[in-house]
Order: sequence, then C-alpha cells, then structure tokens
Amino acid sequence: MNLIADLREAVRTIPDYPKPGIQFRDITTLLGQPQAFRRAVDELVQPWAGQRIEKVAGMEARGFILGGAVAHQLSAGFIPIRKKGKLPHATVSIAYSLEYGIDEMEMHCDAVSKGERVILVDDLIATGGTAEGAVKLLQQQGADVVAACFVIDLPELGGAKKIEALGVPVRTLMRFDGH
Ligand code: AMP
Repeated sequence: MNLIADLREAVRTIPDYPKPGIQFRDITTLLGQPQAFRRAVDELVQPWAGQRIEKVAGMEARGFILGGAVAHQLSAGFIPIRKKGKLPHATVSIAYSLEYGIDEMEMHCDAVSKGERVILVDDLIATGGTAEGAVKLLQQQGADVVAACFVIDLPELGGAKKIEALGVPVRTLMRFDGH
C-alpha cells in the first residue's frame, strides 16, 4: 500500500472553486476518513518526534485541525494564529499578502517565548503569503521556527521557496500541479 497515493486519493478536487481557474484541494474528505486523517497527522509528526518541539502554530482555520492533532501527538503547546480581531487578549499582528490585496493576522503577545522551538502547520501552501506572514510574526516574537509543514504543496506557485528564504525548511506530504 502506497501511503502518499492513498492520501492523495483522500483529497477531493473541486474545479473552478471559489472562482474559475482554481482547482480547490478540499481536505475535508481526508479529515473524514479515519485512516487517512491519522496517517496525515502521523506523517506530519514523524520528523519531529523526540526533537523537543515546544509549540505548534496553526493558521485559521484548517491549520487548527491539523496543528492541534500534531501538537497533541508531540506533547507540545498550540498557538492559534487568527484573522484580525478574533483573539481576546493583547495581540501582535502582521500584514500579509493575499492574491488580491493584503490582510492582517494576529497572535497573542504572550503566545511564544524567546528561543522556543516551534513548527508551523497548515493544510496547503500555495503562494506562501499566509505562511510567510505567520513565520515572520513568530520570528519577530523571538521564536525559533524549526520548520513549516503542509499536507499539500502547489509548487508552481513558489510558496515553499518563499518560506525557505526566511531560513525555515518546508516539508510537504504531496504536490499537485496547477493552482
Ligand atoms: P497562500 O497564502 O497563497 O499560500 O494560500 C494558502 C492558504 O489558502 C491555505 O490556508 C489554503 O488553505 C488556502 N488555499 C490556497 N489555494 C488553495 C487551493 N487551490 N485549494 C485549497 N486551499 C487553498
């Protein structure tokens, strides 16, 4: 049985969503299959077992599902990175680029301590704008961002290179062509 082929088959592709030309890689089908969900989390965790990862950071909203499971498995804390205005305590924020325009993401100002070893988890890296914002936010607070981990890479959009340019290795479980 080929693990990655099985996981690929668990991802549903929805053409022209949310707009024409986009192939939306829907992981809700993967999350809904007990074995696929477990395998995806195990694969994300595997390089970091025993590596003293202190926190896992996840981006709203699919990064919460995967990142929460990865944090539990690593006995690490979890840092939610959210869209502006959602977190109740004092926050630090950063602007990040979207396909059209910019937005802001935030985390609590006390979510991470200087030198803490953190991995970032999300479902998919496309242009890398979202992950770049999250890595910069964590690094500005003094975190040691050890890696950024995604289930899916869309390599044509160059996101992984953007993150590696920040000194953060990228690990992805599968790639899809196109956007
Ligand atoms: P980006 O900032 O361009 O790397 O976009 C990453 C975020 O947008 C991730 O949180 C993804 O969930 C979402 N995303 C971007 N493109 C797609 C796609 N083709 N299919 C599913 N989700 C996507």
